[in-house]
Amino acid sequence: MDKLIYLDHAATTATRPEVVEAMLPYFSEYYGNPSSVYKFSNKGKESIMNARKCIADSLNTEVTNIYFTAGGSEADNWALKATAEAYSSKGKHIITSKIEHHAILHTCEWLEKQGYEISYIDVDENGIIKLDELEKAIRPDTILISIMFANNEIGTIQPIEKIGEIAKAHDVLFHTDAVQAYGQLPIDVEKMHIDMLSASGHKLGGPKGIGFLYIRKGVKIRSFVHGGAQERARRAGTENVPGIVGLGKAVSIAFETMEARAKHEQNLREYTMDRVLAEIPYTRVNGDRTNRLPNNINFSFQFIEGESLLIMLDMAGICGSSGSACTSGSLDPSHVLLAIGLPHEIAHGSLRLTLGEENTKEDMDYVIEQLKQIVERLRSMSPLYEDFIKKSNR
Ligand SMILES: *Cc1c(COP(=O)(O)O)cnc(C)c1O
Repeated sequence: MDKLIYLDHAATTATRPEVVEAMLPYFSEYYGNPSSVYKFSNKGKESIMNARKCIADSLNTEVTNIYFTAGGSEADNWALKATAEAYSSKGKHIITSKIEHHAILHTCEWLEKQGYEISYIDVDENGIIKLDELEKAIRPDTILISIMFANNEIGTIQPIEKIGEIAKAHDVLFHTDAVQAYGQLPIDVEKMHIDMLSASGHKLGGPKGIGFLYIRKGVKIRSFVHGGAQERARRAGTENVPGIVGLGKAVSIAFETMEARAKHEQNLREYTMDRVLAEIPYTRVNGDRTNRLPNNINFSFQFIEGESLLIMLDMAGICGSSGSACTSGSLDPSHVLLAIGLPHEIAHGSLRLTLGEENTKEDMDYVIEQLKQIVERLRSMSPLYEDFIKKSNR
C-alpha cells in the first residue's frame, strides 16, 4: 500500500484490534436480545452492565447515570432538547459558546426556532471561554449552560471545573460535550460539577455509531427515543450490544494507556509545532499552547488556501483536516477560527493535524518536510504572496 500517515484522529480513530475481538462474539454467538427472559440472553445483559460500570468508574459516577446513545451527536441533541423541554416552566434561556461543535450549535439554532433564547459566549484569542461574560449572561430564566470540554479544531481545554462551580452557584444545569476530551484527559463529574456529559466511541479507539450521555441523578430529562424500557425507559431501542461491548473495551484501554499516550503525543506535538514555526515563515499556531489536547496541532499559513494544502498533503500520503467548513461544501471559514479573532484570509489557510499513539517522530519529520515544500509551492503561485514580497522589498 502507498504511504499513509493518518493525522486526523479528531475526526475518527481506527477501532482497536482488541476492541474488534471483544465485539465479534456478540454478533452471531451471543446474539440474544438483552430484554429477553431466557438464560441465553444473559451474556449480553452482563456485558452491557460491565461496559456501563467501566464508563461510570472512569467518570467517578454510578452506573445508573450512564445512558447509551448512537454517538456524540445524539448525546448532544438529547442533552439540549430534552432539558429544554423538561425545564421550560423555569425558563427558556440557554448559554453556550461560539466555538461548539455543530451538534450543539445546530441544535441551538433549532431550539431558537422553538422559542428558546440562546446566548453564545465569546472566547479569548486562545479559544478559552470568557468566564466573566459567562457569569454575566446567567439570568433567572437560564436553565442550562452547555460548554464543550475541549475543542475539536484548536484543541483548547476549557476551565470546566470553574464553569461547573459557576453553574452550581446559580442553580443552572451544566452540560459538557466531552467527545474530544473523554479518553484523553481525566474527568471527574463530581469534582467538576458536571450534570450531563456527551462522549463518543469512535473518537477513542471504539466503533462508530455508539456513545453515551451521562446524566446526573435528579436531573429532569425526558425520553429521547420513545418505545421499549431500555436505558431506564429514557432511550428506547434494542441495545447495540456489540457496539456497547466495543465502547466498554475501548474506554478501558483508553484510560489504562492515557498517561503514556498523552506524553508521547504531546512530545510529537511540541516537536512539530516548534519546527514548523521555526522553519516555515508567516505561520501561526492556533489555540492555547498549554491548555491544549495532547494530540492537537492547528496552524495557519498566510497566503495560502487550506483546501489546496490538504489536497497536496493527500497526494503525499498525509491525512489532515482544514479545520474549516470548506470540506462540507461551504466556503465559510471555520467558526472557531473566526471566534478567536482570525481574519478570514488567515483562517482560510489553516491546517489541523491530530495525532494518535501510532504516529512517530519519523512520520512527523516527513510531514514537516512535505509541509515546507508544499507551502513554498503554493505561495509561489499566490498573487497575494507576490504582492506582499514586492511591498516588503520596497
Ligand atoms: C465528533 C464530535 C461530535 C460528534 O460525535 P459523533 O459520534 O460523530 O456523532 C460531537 N462533538 C465533538 C466535539 C466531536 O468532536
